[in-house]
Amino acid sequence: MIELLNVSKRFTTKNKTTQALSNVSLTVEKGEIFGVIGTSGAGKSTLIRCVNLLEKPNEGKVIVDGIELTKLSDSQLTLERRKIAMIFQHFNLLSSRTVFDNVAFPLELEGKSKSEIKEKVDSLLELVGLKEKAKDYPANLSGGQKQRVAIARALANDPKVLLCDEATSALDPATTKSILKLLKSINQKLSLTILLITHEMEVIKTICDKVAVIDHGKLAEQGNVQQIFTNP
Ligand code: ADP
Ligand code: ADP
Repeated sequence: MIELLNVSKRFTTKNKTTQALSNVSLTVEKGEIFGVIGTSGAGKSTLIRCVNLLEKPNEGKVIVDGIELTKLSDSQLTLERRKIAMIFQHFNLLSSRTVFDNVAFPLELEGKSKSEIKEKVDSLLELVGLKEKAKDYPANLSGGQKQRVAIARALANDPKVLLCDEATSALDPATTKSILKLLKSINQKLSLTILLITHEMEVIKTICDKVAVIDHGKLAEQGNVQQIFTNP
């Protein structure tokens, strides 16, 4: 479902070039939960942002659902990006909109009718367990509840891939557990492919099928979670 082939990314500022990714290749199969773990500055954010081309790789190919994104025009890319949803560490909700209207937002952009939007948003809020919060504003929600809203919004356009950028890093351990449980159940219910980045081993052990370790922009090891993290 996701394939990175020899992806490299450099950032050049006035006086310095940083090689954020060097020759990164990985394959995430349909329905898998794939985790990339590494320390701060290892290149995790750059890697996940290359999957939807928020960052454009300098070299290499990015293929999602059989389409090579790295050779598309901007307008073609806009269409393909609908298949790829993303959630973030700090949730990125719209503070002036209610929970309902946050989840409705991507559907409004698609020009969906009011009744279609109502039906879809209700079912998404049900899925993430926040039906009774529909009329609340983000400021009145806990961190875990905010991430649930962000997950519902991410699923609005029926994506094939969900990218999770340190999605539980701002949450306490108990809330982290409940969000990971929700992601796992969505992965199973919708056969949604999930690529996540994290600096927390516990996240990898709790929900990932496969894992890759990133260090100084290079993928050091990848494989099944048990294979990689069981000491011989
Ligand atoms: P991580 O997510 O693992 O903390 P990042 O992908 O954010 O790592 O960063 C990898 C490297 O690339 C770091 O050295 C970082 O400073 C650098 N970097 C990331 N984004 C930029 C940018 N927009 N401009 C310059 N350097 C960047
Ligand atoms: P927090 O601990 O920050 O309140 P949680 O993520 O634990 O955040 O829970 C957010 C909301 O989702 C709570 O109102 C909770 O009752 C509800 N909730 C928790 N787990 C589930 C679940 N498995 N299914 C549906 N709703 C849930």
